Amino acid sequence: MAVSTGQEEQLLIGGRWVGAEDGKRFDVTNPATGDVVGSIPNGSAGDVQAAIAAAAAALDDWKAMPAIARARILRRSADLMRERKDEIAAVMTAEQGKPLAEAAGEVEYAASFMEWFGGEAERVYGQVVPPLNPANRALVLRQPVGVVAAITPWNFPAAMMTRKLGPAMAAGCTSVVKPASATPLTAALMLRAIEDAGAPPGVVNLVTSRSAGMVAETIFSDRRVRKISFTGSTEVGKDLIRRSADQVKRLSLELGGHAPYLIFDDADLEEATAGLIASKFRNAGQTCVCANRVYVQKGIYKEFVDLLGQKVAKLVVGPGDRPGVNVGPLIDSRGVDKADEHVQDALSRGARLVTGGSRLTDGEFARGSFYAPTVLEDVTPEMLISYEETFGPVAGITKFGSEEEALRLANDSIYGLCAYFHTRDYARLLRVAEKLEYGIIGVNTGIISAASVPFGGVKESGYGREGGSDGIDEYLDTKYVLVAGVGI
Ligand code: NAP
Repeated sequence: MAVSTGQEEQLLIGGRWVGAEDGKRFDVTNPATGDVVGSIPNGSAGDVQAAIAAAAAALDDWKAMPAIARARILRRSADLMRERKDEIAAVMTAEQGKPLAEAAGEVEYAASFMEWFGGEAERVYGQVVPPLNPANRALVLRQPVGVVAAITPWNFPAAMMTRKLGPAMAAGCTSVVKPASATPLTAALMLRAIEDAGAPPGVVNLVTSRSAGMVAETIFSDRRVRKISFTGSTEVGKDLIRRSADQVKRLSLELGGHAPYLIFDDADLEEATAGLIASKFRNAGQTCVCANRVYVQKGIYKEFVDLLGQKVAKLVVGPGDRPGVNVGPLIDSRGVDKADEHVQDALSRGARLVTGGSRLTDGEFARGSFYAPTVLEDVTPEMLISYEETFGPVAGITKFGSEEEALRLANDSIYGLCAYFHTRDYARLLRVAEKLEYGIIGVNTGIISAASVPFGGVKESGYGREGGSDGIDEYLDTKYVLVAGVGI
């Protein structure tokens, strides 16, 4: 069944909603049912160039607009996103699959970036530095980088976009957005809210396309684009690093993760199981900050595994638009194949199944991409699940003895996005937080995201930070101005 989005989604170029230049479109499907829920233009290289041209044409006026006026547009965008929350959430659930309550929560979270960076727009301060020669003046200016291209993933189709557009708009940059081809309808609704809030034509532009490589090629070869902000897989991120070399383009990369989740003997078991479930099974395990390796200390190991198994077995799986569903479908059948590959590989190498462990294919599950929420124990480092991102509802548990062993296991990863641990020992809390080689640490909680804090990774999880006061720096250039002969 098609979802209602109020009007036919189009590309947004220079303030006009238009079709692709060659008229081509592609279908968007519901991962819970396989049904087509809508269609969207399949943008070409010409459309991408037109969007870049519109962003370039809008740049001078936008950066010259008083910061307070830009801030008002950002805040109004947030208000409109909240007013339209139910409508946007319904579309998101239809094309992405997550439960409606999670989709509505994501719209709130997405709006919070517009609101928070509305405030930051007014706080882009430079510096006056004591000069070498007191007769001179040394100034440091912070200026918008220019035209930005934002490439976003399907797992958070609203929030990953505003996490880029909020600071870009606040800094005075104009943007071209290329959303994931699985979730373009949510992107179009979010951009409509920004446009309706009064963003002048060309400040934000939307190009949907099924040819991501072509879009990247067009963006990276165009000198008007000064910065690319990408959220997605490490594999594609590495490709973008290579592409950026030709014109030395600025990049922010929010890439994959493989979060360790440590539970020490002194943890509160109720809190630890609740935190792990929130981290692992939200969005059916399809988040970059999902727990991917669970390490439990030997003193509470059995009790923890039993309690977790009982709780996970009670999670309700089904289409995201049904009340009471905790875990929706995976984005597509490849997502299911990957989760199952990780489970079968672990079982074949000696892991034990605590609950779940299979595709769901009977009855109402037959047409969708469903996988049973799964817990495995006795997981070892050579199993796929211990080093590859699962991106599915599978928790693999390993027993550890000492704090040193837990840290060694936790840091043994090419990724460095997010790590979690549960303890009530304040000294361990500080020690472990300092020693974990990750950009984000959750202590005694499985949920860490907010617009006001810096989000980003180390190692192969990327570079740059989104959110927080660091977030706007990604969209500002620093300029040093020396004025000689001013006098004392
Ligand atoms: P993806 O395959 O890398 O796709 C992300 C975006 O890049 C999509 O818009 C995609 O377009 C586009 N893309 C694909 N191939 C491209 C290419 N060769 N050149 C330029 N763009 C290209 O990732 P995904 O499967 O959508 O998202 C899941 C990944 O994102 C996971 O690894 C997850 O950990 C990561 N993630 C990271 C964060 C973070 O903050 N660190 C947040 C969320 C997700 P199409 O959709 O048209 O292919």
